[in-house]
Amino acid sequence: MTARVLIVDDVLANVKLLEARLSAEYLEILTAHSGPEALAVCARERVDVVLLDVMMPGMDGFEVCRRLKQSPGTMHVPVIMVTALDQPSDKVQGLDAGADDFLTKPVDDIALVTRVKNLARLKLLGDELAMRTMTAGELGLPTVASSAPTFGDEPGRIIIVEDHERSAARMREALARSHSVMVEPDLPGALLKVADTGCDLLMVSLNLGHADGLRLCAQVRALERTRHLPMIVLLDPGDDARLLRALDMGVNDYLMRPIDRNEMLARVRTQIRRKRHADQLRMRLERSVELAIIDPLTGLHNRRYMESHLKTLVAQSIQFERPLSVLIADIDHFKAVNDTWGHDIGDKVLREFAVRFKSNIRGVDLACRLGGEEFLSIMPDTDMNGALQVGERVRACVAGLPFDAVSSGSLQVTASVGVATLQSLLDTPETLFKRADEALYAAKREGRNRVVTAAA
Ligand code: GH3
Ligand code: MG
Ligand code: MG
Repeated sequence: MTARVLIVDDVLANVKLLEARLSAEYLEILTAHSGPEALAVCARERVDVVLLDVMMPGMDGFEVCRRLKQSPGTMHVPVIMVTALDQPSDKVQGLDAGADDFLTKPVDDIALVTRVKNLARLKLLGDELAMRTMTAGELGLPTVASSAPTFGDEPGRIIIVEDHERSAARMREALARSHSVMVEPDLPGALLKVADTGCDLLMVSLNLGHADGLRLCAQVRALERTRHLPMIVLLDPGDDARLLRALDMGVNDYLMRPIDRNEMLARVRTQIRRKRHADQLRMRLERSVELAIIDPLTGLHNRRYMESHLKTLVAQSIQFERPLSVLIADIDHFKAVNDTWGHDIGDKVLREFAVRFKSNIRGVDLACRLGGEEFLSIMPDTDMNGALQVGERVRACVAGLPFDAVSSGSLQVTASVGVATLQSLLDTPETLFKRADEALYAAKREGRNRVVTAAA
């Protein structure tokens, strides 16, 4: 999605200048020439970043920012304050008003594009997260909906790679109030820490005495575990060539020396928030995939997953003329377990059964809970004889030892097992499954606690 940037400035020439630079970056531009007009645009339309001039007649930028941040409809829209002079007091006032970052006039191109893109990414990720939460709620997915998105301002873990002691101490002092900070003066040590600790942000000096900080940035981007880790580099003004190389290789943001404390706090906050949002989105995706294919009680695959898996395996086995067997196990008189010991103990028995079931099949064999007290395994490259042996192992392992769900050791359970093997080119997942099911019912009829193979 293209990010939409609102440029607010009372001087038309300034608006035009910023507009020209940002349009070249394929951003969508909206403009406003006063504070009230800016507020009206934000109330009416989707805005992803506001570039806000501080000095405007009537309502100044601080006031506009304060109002945006106080209104529930616009409080999540990032605001970049554009200050005329490099006044630290402006930055303090901006932060107090809720600003997310700063630019000073005349606006530097690299700074402009970097700031806008970082905050636009943060906003779009946050929107995505909010939307997913809403959808999950509408679908009635309890585990997903209950983990409401956090705003992302819990303390982060920051690693600073800096060999200049005083500079490191100053940064640590400023950041340690809201974050946990580790300083590491050399590159190999830093890489180890980054890979080990799962930190939230890496800040790297590009003025190290004996090493090139960019090398570390490249290594961090190349490692699977740290690929998404936010990075901020610290460098001297005028080093645009290295700055551009850093941004090219995926460094997220930078700070010019001497480091302004407020700028640093704002940029660190943005990067950590963005990481939190991205982590949450990723986690939810994994969780919803898991919800769709895993049985929550036993952790085995569910029936839905089994059905698609069985289809694939039947097709492959027929194509390559390999054996394939299916085994269904059903606990005997399980209703009596519930009736005697209660439903909770019944659940524990099901979990324990799942563990015994799984430990008696190979890793490549899919273990699935079909529902209730019925379990199934699909075994590639296994003929009838092999499947029979597995069935007997499962049966013996269940009947051989009382279940731990009751500590007295008096809870004994048995299971009946039906086994079927792929027999002809005309077999389908349905016929295979049906034969295993019929074998299972034969086992029940013949007295339970036994394994029966399907008739040819
Ligand atoms: P059979 O030997 O013929 O298989 O008899 P059975 O009692 O095992 O079979 P039946 O199908 O009559 O009863 C199955 C019971 O399993 C009934 C149901 O309440 C119970 N059950 C199904 N799902 C769960 C569950 O998730 N937890 C618990 N505790 N019980 C369950
Ligand atoms: Mg049963
Ligand atoms: Mg049953």
